Amino acid sequence: MRSVRLCVLSSGSGGNCLYVETGATRVLVDAGLPLKETAKRCASVGVSVKDVTDVLLTHEHADHSHAAGILARRLGVQVHATRGTLQSLRDPPPPELKVPLRGGEPFQIGDLRITPVAVPHDASEPVAYVFEDGMGARAAIVTDLGCAPRKVLLALQGLDALVLEMNHDARMLLEGPYPFSLKRRIRSDLGHLSNAQGAQVLAQVLHPGLRHVVLAHLSEHNNTERCARTAAECVLERAGSGANVVVGSQARALEPLDLRACVRISRPRQLALFA
Ligand SMILES: [Zn+2]
Ligand SMILES: [Zn+2]
Repeated sequence: MRSVRLCVLSSGSGGNCLYVETGATRVLVDAGLPLKETAKRCASVGVSVKDVTDVLLTHEHADHSHAAGILARRLGVQVHATRGTLQSLRDPPPPELKVPLRGGEPFQIGDLRITPVAVPHDASEPVAYVFEDGMGARAAIVTDLGCAPRKVLLALQGLDALVLEMNHDARMLLEGPYPFSLKRRIRSDLGHLSNAQGAQVLAQVLHPGLRHVVLAHLSEHNNTERCARTAAECVLERAGSGANVVVGSQARALEPLDLRACVRISRPRQLALFA
């Protein structure tokens, strides 16, 4: 039976990189680590970076795109991103390896169906991604967004696994060391989700089939694992959900999630919010 395997290789403003696999299809989502470190993290979860065929970028910020050019030149991988992202890369891939995509327009790489979802963030044309294996497994990677409009929430219904930004604790950010202009940027609708905002998103997409929640892109200065985890677990407990919560790390790859056990025959009903 086919399944989706998803692994957070690195998460945070020091570099983001995730791995998604189904059947013979192996892709990286974001390339924010140096090439050598990307290869090392892949190897730590039993994957050879040489087997990766495609890289998907969420946006051009260096913590997501740093190694996209070199990955393309060294390994010949195609780099998929919106036109806005491709045009804004500091070290772009060769033209023949650039593959433009558009928010809301699904496409296929091998066995993986991928839907980019436009998100509000201070980048050229940023997106989140929803992945489906065609056999019922569905996962999403949603980081770097200042708020979650209805369109984003709709795209996140019926997931088995959700990688969700919980960037900062609002109070820690306010009282923390960042200059006022940066605090304002992070808190804005084009910035990053706080723990409370992330928890709200989780509450709005939660359903009995959601089995894995990965809290991602935590700020080193303005958040703690404990704060983020507490915010998510409160939502899950209130709803009686048994979803597993893990926190993405900057320092090491997480255990891969295997969504095979989560395949369902039918989709759950949509929440009343969207009825
Ligand atoms: Zn980022
Ligand atoms: Zn960003």
